[in-house]
Amino acid sequence: MLEVLKNALCINLERLKVIVTDNEDGLENAIEDVFPNAKHQLCTWHIEKKILAKISEKFAGGTESESVQELIKEWTALVNCTNVESSNRAWAAMQGKWNNTSAGMGAIKYIHDEYIVRKEKFLKAYTNHNLHFGNNASSRVEGAHGALKKYFGGSSGDLYIIFEAMEAHLKDQHIAASKKLSDECQKIPNLLQIPLFEDVVKKVSSYALRKAHEQYLQFQRSYQFQQELPACTKYHNHALGIPCAHDFFSRLPRVEQQAEEPTTKKRIPELPALKMTDFNPHWWLQVSTVRPIIVDPRQSNSNVENTRTFTQQQEDILAEVPRNQAILEQGLADIQTQFGHLPVHQKVAVLNQVMGIASGDPSAS
Ligand SMILES: [Zn+2]
Repeated sequence: MLEVLKNALCINLERLKVIVTDNEDGLENAIEDVFPNAKHQLCTWHIEKKILAKISEKFAGGTESESVQELIKEWTALVNCTNVESSNRAWAAMQGKWNNTSAGMGAIKYIHDEYIVRKEKFLKAYTNHNLHFGNNASSRVEGAHGALKKYFGGSSGDLYIIFEAMEAHLKDQHIAASKKLSDECQKIPNLLQIPLFEDVVKKVSSYALRKAHEQYLQFQRSYQFQQELPACTKYHNHALGIPCAHDFFSRLPRVEQQAEEPTTKKRIPELPALKMTDFNPHWWLQVSTVRPIIVDPRQSNSNVENTRTFTQQQEDILAEVPRNQAILEQGLADIQTQFGHLPVHQKVAVLNQVMGIASGDPSAS
């Protein structure tokens, strides 16, 4: 399946930096083989779900038990620690606290054997250095293919019906995305209409601009009240690809310094406007040239000689309904053509959806 994904992506794999998956056995080595340059992260949402289920079996009262709630809270805090030392301390404290009872010991052992041994793949202290653009969990993608499944209405019927449903869904998605993109290019919140952003506004995603603006506010507060910023975790640079509060300090014009009346508030000098290159190209807005995928199987009964098979599962379906083969081939060819125009991150998202559907229930994948 991963080989299919890799071939379908048709991209320079150097650009695929992070893959987020759930904790499926066997996938880890395969990912390293197929995508040697990408960082593999485990989905923090899936991990928490699994831990909750597992430790609930160990404590009386299950998920409602106070111990379980406490343990999960501590686990979440551990996952969110921004540096390795504090995450080590948090884990040591959890062990010290829970290893006194047999239920607690069982929970700690489970967490250790299943997850702590692979902590580099999901603790933020480590993953914050991966360029993941804020995607730490694959649940967002699952929500997307859950939505796609709804369009199928549970139908296991004719492939034509499935294509119609898929087409309707993709058209809706395309309309929604186009609208959002055009809004991004036109409606600019006042917050972002400042000289600092004058060269990037309408050209960089407003999500990224808001994130940068939060950092700018932090810089302002710190500068005005002369309070030192906490040490830089490099999260914004490495994981999100945007400037951080520390970067704004390094952009201060050299001339300033002293000669100001001794007030508690310092006036903030104007910083040079941010450039496109201050943001990772992931955030650059481009006018979309992608048309929605249109599949009309009724007009596509041409003989298709090349049988491209995806998975055994799909081969089985094809064997059962040979009359639908031409429809499927044409549909896939159309999808592939359109797919080729998508930017890399959208390709990844679409393929995740398709793979999720192919593997059945999204909540189980
Ligand atoms: Zn920083």
